[in-house]
Amino acid sequence: MTNKETKKSVAGSHKNYRCWCYRCNENYTVLGETFPYVMTRMILCPTCGNKRCPHSTDHNLACTNSNAPGQPGSRYE
Ligand SMILES: [Zn+2]
Ligand SMILES: [Zn+2]
Repeated sequence: MTNKETKKSVAGSHKNYRCWCYRCNENYTVLGETFPYVMTRMILCPTCGNKRCPHSTDHNLACTNSNAPGQPGSRYE
């Protein structure tokens, strides 16, 4: 039996980790807060920092590195 890569340490804490994207948080409200998470925070693409990047709306969508309106998949479409 080989013992390959049984333990791989990953940087950062994955405890209580929530995805940052809009889709994963659109029905989420922080405990004790009145308004939904996505209403109280500006969701930006972590890669390019644009709010209209489709990647900021859904982590499954590719980063376009663009803040242009009307991008497919973007909530600002
Ligand atoms: Zn997500
Ligand atoms: Zn992006």
